Amino acid sequence: MADCFFHTGRPAVARCKQCGRPLCSSCRKITDLGIFCSDECAQTAKIHAERMQKIEEQKASYRGSKWSGIAKVIKIIVFLAILFAIYKFVIARFIR
Ligand SMILES: [Zn+2]
Ligand SMILES: [Zn+2]
Repeated sequence: MADCFFHTGRPAVARCKQCGRPLCSSCRKITDLGIFCSDECAQTAKIHAERMQKIEEQKASYRGSKWSGIAKVIKIIVFLAILFAIYKFVIARFIR
C-alpha cells in the first residue's frame, strides 16, 4: 500500500471508505460505518448511508402498496366471479 495521506514515509494500513485516501494507524478513524480519514468523511458516509436506507424504505413501501393493489384487484375479480356463479345458478333454477 501507499504512504499515509497525512504523513509521508509512514506506511498506510487502511483506506478511507469515503474518499479512498491511504491512512496510517494513527490517522484512521474507526467508526461503526467503517474506517475514515476525517470527521467530514465519516459524516458524508453517514448521510449517504441514511439516504440509501431511506431510498430502500421507499422502495419497500412502494412494493408493498403495489402488492396490496394487486390483492385488491384479485378480491374484486373473485367477488365478481362468485356473483356471476350465483347469477347463473339462479337463472338455471328459476328461469326456464
Ligand atoms: Zn476520507
Ligand atoms: Zn497518518
